[in-house]
Amino acid sequence: MSVWDEVVGQDEVVATLRGAVLASRQADGDAAARAMTHAWLITGPPGSGRSVAARAFAAALQCTDPAEPGCGHCHGCTTALAGTHADVTLIGTEKVIFAIEEIRPLISQAQRAPSQGRWRVMLMEDADRMVERTSNVLLKAVEEPPPRTVWLLCAPSPEDVLTTIRSRCRAVHLRVPDPRAVADLLVRRDGLDPDVALAAARAAQSHVGLARRLARDPEARARRRRLLAVPAGIRGVGDAVLAAADLIDTAAADAKAATEERDAAEKAELLRNLGAEAGTRLPPALRGQVKQLEEDQKRRATRAQRDVLDRAMVDLLSLYRDVLVVQLGADVELINTDLGAEVRALAGGSTPEQTVRRMDAVGVARERLAANVAPLLAVEAMMVALRPQG
Ligand SMILES: [Zn+2]
Repeated sequence: MSVWDEVVGQDEVVATLRGAVLASRQADGDAAARAMTHAWLITGPPGSGRSVAARAFAAALQCTDPAEPGCGHCHGCTTALAGTHADVTLIGTEKVIFAIEEIRPLISQAQRAPSQGRWRVMLMEDADRMVERTSNVLLKAVEEPPPRTVWLLCAPSPEDVLTTIRSRCRAVHLRVPDPRAVADLLVRRDGLDPDVALAAARAAQSHVGLARRLARDPEARARRRRLLAVPAGIRGVGDAVLAAADLIDTAAADAKAATEERDAAEKAELLRNLGAEAGTRLPPALRGQVKQLEEDQKRRATRAQRDVLDRAMVDLLSLYRDVLVVQLGADVELINTDLGAEVRALAGGSTPEQTVRRMDAVGVARERLAANVAPLLAVEAMMVALRPQG
């Protein structure tokens, strides 16, 4: 199993990245450094596997197998994939945008030669989450990298990063993979049932991680089904308001479940590093560090909740998309193959125009959530727009 196997349905991109690694291998020393592009911009819609592709690339760059770079089992590959390779720095943020203080230390780190690997790889997810001032700090590093440093920037689209940065990078663009390719991976890698895997891949709209969770976790499937049953239950404004509150609560609970365990482990580790026992009183000098961690964790929970909500919006959009498919008699497969009856009921009770208007309402709610509007307000307005219209 090579590192590229996880990069599902992206043959062209894999060929480009593999080619770059091979070309740099055929040269030695300075020539190898010259043969490598030192800044890459990996773009693709959410779920297309940007960070998976970037990690596979980082692994192949660090791979110690002389014959097949990206072998998937050498120390270089496994540590790069696991995020523990000394020369692969994973840069992400739990915040809505990167703070400039998060970026500055990376610039000096990027100047250092790799300690053990072939390259120093600086892998930045969410390179779009930067204001211009922060981008300009990054630009200096991307402009003149040392011979052994490679930057991998990930973003939804090239337009999401500053033109000046974009122009310094070699761009590769990922597509949304075919659900069948995603299902194949789930069957091959995780040993899941082919039918369940395919239904999950469709429902997740080819988002690999999500498809895997849906295919493996009946509770996750049930949660999704409950969410998609909501529109049929809205009879008026009262129902809509209740449904909104319910959705917000569920998202908060989901996000909490996802972050709680990690939060506790992080705090225990910090206390251990500070030489303190859990539950004892900390000296004031150390309390600041714990407080800082707690604030970071709170921000992360907020972002996780927003991500869960956004996912719910995407699921709702998929439902109305299916409704529209039925209403127009289009010869296209449903995304929600397991909700045929619900989809037909909604299709029979409304017009295509109303469906489009509902999709617009969901889209507006997504934009508002992304713009930091109070989630309850955004979701309430959306639910109200989903109620039956005369
Ligand atoms: Zn390897």
